[in-house]
Amino acid sequence: TTGLDLFQPERVNSQGFDLRHRPTLASIDTARDAFATHQWHAAPLTIGDLPHGASDAVRNPADFADTVGQVTWATPETVTRAAQGAERWGATPAERARILNRAADLYEAHYGEFFALLHREAGKLLLDCVAELREAVDFLRYYAAHAEGAEARGTFACISPWNFPLAIFTGQIAAALAAGNAVLAKPAEQTTLIAHRAVQLLHEAGVPRAALQLLPGAGDVGGALTSCPAVDGVAFTGSTETAQIIHRAMAANLAPGAPLIAETGGLNAMIVDSTALPEQAVQAIVESAFQSAGQRCSALRCLYVQEDIADSLTEMLTGAMDALVMGDPWQITSDLGPVIDAEARAGIVAHIQQAQAEGRVLRTYPTPDTGFYVAPTLIRVQGIGDMQREIFGPVLHLATFKSHELDKVIDAINATGYGLTFGLMTRIDDRVQHVTERVHAGNIYVNRNQIGAIVGSQPFGGEGLSGTGPKAGGPLYLDRFRQHPAAQTGS
Ligand code: NAD
Repeated sequence: TTGLDLFQPERVNSQGFDLRHRPTLASIDTARDAFATHQWHAAPLTIGDLPHGASDAVRNPADFADTVGQVTWATPETVTRAAQGAERWGATPAERARILNRAADLYEAHYGEFFALLHREAGKLLLDCVAELREAVDFLRYYAAHAEGAEARGTFACISPWNFPLAIFTGQIAAALAAGNAVLAKPAEQTTLIAHRAVQLLHEAGVPRAALQLLPGAGDVGGALTSCPAVDGVAFTGSTETAQIIHRAMAANLAPGAPLIAETGGLNAMIVDSTALPEQAVQAIVESAFQSAGQRCSALRCLYVQEDIADSLTEMLTGAMDALVMGDPWQITSDLGPVIDAEARAGIVAHIQQAQAEGRVLRTYPTPDTGFYVAPTLIRVQGIGDMQREIFGPVLHLATFKSHELDKVIDAINATGYGLTFGLMTRIDDRVQHVTERVHAGNIYVNRNQIGAIVGSQPFGGEGLSGTGPKAGGPLYLDRFRQHPAAQTGS
């Protein structure tokens, strides 16, 4: 097969829901209302009855009064015992594909419960819930379609972040399982209930328990996994710092050549030149910076606007920001939900306060005090080099450039060392070519927002500090989960 055949054109992505259609909205309401006050309980899902740790209550980041359920944690000892009992998925590729497709059907059938969980455990808006479920289902079906191939590596640790608690969690697992591996899955500690429900459905679909175990926990459980000699490879999505820690742990403890597939953070920029259509640019900027409360790895962090149009564009942008509604993710009228937890909010607020002290905040707002809300905020900077780190929330940084400084801006963007997403708004064709050939970024978006990717047609992943590749949702991704004679000596 050639790479292009592997895109599987005959496969159809999940249709999702049309939120402009009132009867659709009404059926979504009915389906999720049944879970408005439901209490979930997550615990390790392992072979046999293994020792486990303490339990904690799970709270809704949008509503301090709402308890969502309880999590019983795994411990490093649970990890060791689970790894000993892990067994590669022995089923034929066709059987694995059938079961993963069945899991996709079960996910779709349980959409009401998943939406309620995504609202209440992760603070996600309905728009994000729909996108998240679609992507999870697409990953299952896409990797199922690629189940045929070389031999599995063995046992994979899959470690995921809270910001796509269903889609990324499922994508890593589906890839490892489609290739025939055993999986030890550790979701982010903030979103364990969602992960637990997903694994229950995967088991219900027919994935054997010894081939897929769930180990709820924080960094200690993740650390135990990535230094466990019985683990043959790690799929990780999260911050660049954690990826570096994992890489060191693997080098010290795992067999040489054990692969690390890491998708990490970014310092994503957009360039808007004076030929861009202002209304289109403002819409793309607002979506890229503030959708999902800025908690997407792809989100726009640093906007470069050509000086000639900076004043008028900033006025339109702040006008659009004034219209954003912060509030309960369950309500369709909300544009911004909360950030994930107290620690996340404290870090973002400290960043805004420092900018305030330096007189650089161009726009911010008061926030509801019912949850971990952070206001959409616009901060002036000289350039992307002023940004020390990724601020993972609804904070946009604005810099201006003169027309002859375009290459300087590109150099500054590349000098960060990150390379995840990049956006360009221009109506000059030559400029599209000039800029996109020079900027180092995994995913480049021209004259549209720079968030979102589509499994099978728009694979997603970064370069440099933003990830190792291969891109998720693309034809090469599964290769790293398999044994290849040529790949056995290095990683
Ligand atoms: P994080 O790095 O704090 O945590 C990610 C996962 O790693 C969690 O499950 C966590 O428990 C685990 N972990 C923490 N310490 C560990 C250790 N020492 N060993 C093993 N595992 C450990 O990231 P986060 O806050 O959950 O997610 C946000 C980050 O993820 C942002 O930087 C964002 O850009 C990035 N992200 C990247 C992509 C992408 O596709 N490139 C997608 C989503 C999120």
